[in-house]
Amino acid sequence: MIKIENASKVFAKGTPNEVYALKNVTLTIQKGDFVIVIGTNGSGKSTLLNAIAGTLMLDEGRIQINNEDVTKLPDFKRAKYIGRVFQNPFSGTAPNMTVAENLQLAYLRGEKKSLALAMTSAQKKFLRERVAELRMGLENRMDTPIGLLSGGQRQALTLLMATLKKPEILLLDEHTAALDPISAELVLVITQEIISKYHLTALMVTHSMSYATRFGNRVIMMNLGEVACDIQGEEKQTLTEQTLLKRFEERHIYIVI
Ligand code: ADP
Ligand code: MG
Repeated sequence: MIKIENASKVFAKGTPNEVYALKNVTLTIQKGDFVIVIGTNGSGKSTLLNAIAGTLMLDEGRIQINNEDVTKLPDFKRAKYIGRVFQNPFSGTAPNMTVAENLQLAYLRGEKKSLALAMTSAQKKFLRERVAELRMGLENRMDTPIGLLSGGQRQALTLLMATLKKPEILLLDEHTAALDPISAELVLVITQEIISKYHLTALMVTHSMSYATRFGNRVIMMNLGEVACDIQGEEKQTLTEQTLLKRFEERHIYIVI
């Protein structure tokens, strides 16, 4: 569970460029929630995710993860709770290292074992099986450098690496935005499978109204650093793109799709 109370973050305070990236945000996200985060450019979506991850410290307010107050904890001390995937398929993996080596790094993250330690055959088998779950045939390309794979394949592997240690929370910041529509769809379906299989609590930023209606059990609409709209339960289940656009219009938020 993530509990955010009265969270504010101001950039360029006291200057003409002052901007409230987060403005008194109060939000409780339950364990297992799959929250879609939408909103115009600059509305505070990435700032919200950065604040949860601890790559950015709040000016005001509190954040709790599983009832532990993490407000003052730096990102590396929250890392055990959190997996992240960003927009760029080239971030998050080492291009010259093979699929197996990249996965090994992710597997050993947070462990005291030396990286030089060879993987046991059981560990190799485990990683191969997880790669096979992506249904991209990458289990037969374990020795291929990741840099030679397509954007969609890399993003699927990045997702796998981010969730290999079963973190409580998965933060996805437009992680399919740089992919072609078919790869994006594939990565989204894999995302959904991983979230439900491992009961992760997830926030996924997207600009797609279609994704916002099709995926997740809750939609949060950010506007000027505030949660302008929070749709969940039955309303989310029956949500259409048209209704969602209407909710934007009601609040005089105009989006460019
Ligand atoms: P979104 O992800 O919704 O597009 P962001 O959370 O990245 O928006 O940004 C929210 C607002 O905060 C924007 O006006 C942005 O310009 C500003 N902002 C974000 N990060 C910084 C920063 N490091 N320095 C100054 N302003 C920032
Ligand atoms: Mg952003």
